[in-house]
Parts: sequence; structure tokens; C-alpha cells
Amino acid sequence: MTMLKKTIVLLPGDGVGPEVIRAATAILRECATEFGHQFDLQEFPLGGAAIDATGEPLPAATREACRKADAVLLGAVGGPKWDARPVGQRPESGLLGIRKELGLYVNVRPVRLREPLRGISPLKRERLGDLDLEIVRELAGGMYFGVRGNEQSGGVERAFDTESYSTPEIERIAVFAYNRAEGRSRRLCSVDKANVLTSSQLWRRTVSGMSHLYPSVQLEHMYVDNAAMQLVLRPTQFDVILTSNMFGDILSDESAALLGSIGLLPSGSFGAGAPLFEPIHGSAPQIAGKDQANPIGTILSVTMMLRDTFGLGIEADWVERSLDRILAAGYRTGDIAEPGSRVVGTIAFTEHLRQEMQLTLGHAERYGWGV
Ligand code: NAD
Repeated sequence: MTMLKKTIVLLPGDGVGPEVIRAATAILRECATEFGHQFDLQEFPLGGAAIDATGEPLPAATREACRKADAVLLGAVGGPKWDARPVGQRPESGLLGIRKELGLYVNVRPVRLREPLRGISPLKRERLGDLDLEIVRELAGGMYFGVRGNEQSGGVERAFDTESYSTPEIERIAVFAYNRAEGRSRRLCSVDKANVLTSSQLWRRTVSGMSHLYPSVQLEHMYVDNAAMQLVLRPTQFDVILTSNMFGDILSDESAALLGSIGLLPSGSFGAGAPLFEPIHGSAPQIAGKDQANPIGTILSVTMMLRDTFGLGIEADWVERSLDRILAAGYRTGDIAEPGSRVVGTIAFTEHLRQEMQLTLGHAERYGWGV
């Protein structure tokens, strides 16, 4: 058994962020203790919490720590307290800033049905099938980083944001998506709006132009409006979806809804620097501080980190198997409750998971599973 020593920077952020990070780090610590890893967990402020503490959403100390980390785990940022601030000085710019700082240009969002949660999907059983897809979202370009502004002309105000992509920006994300598809069922669907947008035409041409490098991958293109519809009608047709920053943002929330709650989805971002893992949900201000947040998206972000970045597949399997068992036993946070569920808060849910992990570890030791 390999014992690892890693520095993990925690950025709890705002709203439910600190609650889900607390839950996920309890699970991370459990893995470290049981498998003899040394995870040095260092916490830094980001977003609204950082604005309150230092006046800026991405303080230099946070930047510096993330640059030196082996991996970063983020909760969520934002909330009504900071909504009146102009774009650029809001908590969200801390998030965009850290993605930029770490050169993260890929965001992977796995959307996988967990069998015990089949009943909470809004889709009929036959449409949902065994949903298991991945959205590969471009993270460092497009409209979220494009030229923007407000102008006044003849007493009329106009605001604008610009969608733009260069060939190298498209190529590097496409390489990642093609590789991802090669490791899965070799189907890649590139989503754009090439019937209207010139940036999408370059996107489509570039992705198509690379397909000869990946002869085993079956490439398909789809317009984003159709993709939004197909995700609801027949989501199992998809394996890897490659798309731009903004389309990926929207389609991944839609995909989360297919599973029943946005609180369930993890994500991993990759690029030049330390990889960053975070649930896809926001700071959920309505339920913040009420012990109601679903920690599963963050816990699955931790298992992504363990498996994809540290190569700790056994530990990740251990967490996920235990998670499925407590879900099957009916333990749920409110957002994923069904009739007859044992509804618990974030803290109790995490504690049930921890106890289940202890139980399955005992099994593993006795029967030799994976350990
Ligand atoms: P949101 O994801 O915070 O909430 C959407 C809905 O999902 C709400 O009903 C919320 O209560 C629920 N929800 C979210 N996470 C949940 C969880 N873990 N468990 C149970 N229910 C959960 O999105 P929003 O309401 O559009 O935005 C709220 C704030 O979060 C805004 O300030 C926004 O800018 C910010 N935001 C941040 C991120 C991020 O940090 N990555 C992403 C999206 C939104």
C-alpha cells in the first residue's frame, strides 16, 4: 500500500460552502487515518469571506497557497450580502481569478446515476436508463472572460459581453475531451451554436479537424438548443460532451437536475497548475447555516481528487461504496428525500457515512477487499 504525503488547500468560501467542506474533509481525514496518508489540509479565504476579511475576493495569500498545493478543494462563493458590488469586485471574481491563477482550462463534470437515488430523478425510469455521462467544459475562455462593458448612446444604455475562442484554446480542451472519450465508450459529442455564432463555427471546424488523430472516437456535433432538449428526452445517448464555458455551465446544471438535485454533482478542473475540485452548486444562501446542505457533491469531488489526481482508487471506491450503502439504507438530506427516507442534516449524514466506512473497512480487512 502506497502512503502519500499531499498538501490540499481548502477554500470553503461562502453560504453552504464551509458546511460541505467540513463534511468532505471529515471523509478525507478518515481516508488519511485508515490508509496512512499524510494530507496537510490548509484553509484559506475566498469570495465573500475573503472580501470581509481582507477587502478582496482573492487575497494574495490564497493565491500563493493554491499555487503551491497538490490539489485544491473549494466549497462555493457568493451571496446576497455582496450582490450590490460591481462585476469584478464580487465573490465570483475570486472564483474566476483562482481558476485563471492555476491555469485551469478544463472542467469535468461526471453525471452518474447512483442506483439508490433512481427514484428521485424527475425522469421516467426508461428515459433515465443507467445515466453515466461526462461534461467537459472549457473553463478559461469564452464569454465569462471576454471583453465586456456598458456604454451610453443617445440616452440609451447598452451592455455587452463577448464570446470568443482561439484555435489553440479549442484544441487544448478538445485534446482532453478526446482522451476522456477514449477512456470511456469512445463517443464524443461536441456542443455548439455553429448555425448562429462565428466562434462556434471555429469551434466545430477545429474539433472536426482533430478527429483523424482519434480514429477510435466517434465524433458527433450538436447545437446547444437541441442538446438541452436531448439531455431530457434521451440522456443515455451521451457519453462525453465537449462544450464551451457558458454552454457547459448551463448544461451541467440541467444534467444535475436529471439526477434529482444539484447537491449531488462533483467537478474537477485541470490545467497548468494544481487541480481544483468543487461541487457544481453555488452557495445556496437560503439554506446556509441550517445544517441542510447536501454534502455529496463535495464528497464526490474528494473521491475524484483521490482517484484522478492521487491515484487512490481503493480509497475512492471505499467512500463511494459506503455512500451508496447509506443512501440505500434511506439516509438522505432534505433535497434528495423520498417518502420513507430518514431525513438528516449535513452533519448527521456525514457521520453516518463515516460510520459506514468504518464498517466496510472492517469487512475489507476480514475478506481482503481491496486493502
Ligand atoms: P445555488 O446552486 O446556490 O442554488 C440553486 C438551488 O439549489 C437552491 O434552491 C439551493 O438551495 C439548492 N442547492 C444548492 N446547493 C445545494 C446543496 N448542497 N444541498 C441542497 N440544496 C442545494 O445557485 P444560485 O441560487 O443560482 O446561486 C446562489 C449564489 O451562489 C449566488 O451568489 C451565485 O453567484 C453563487 N454561485 C456560486 C457558484 C460557485 O461557487 N461555484 C456556482 C453557482 C452559483
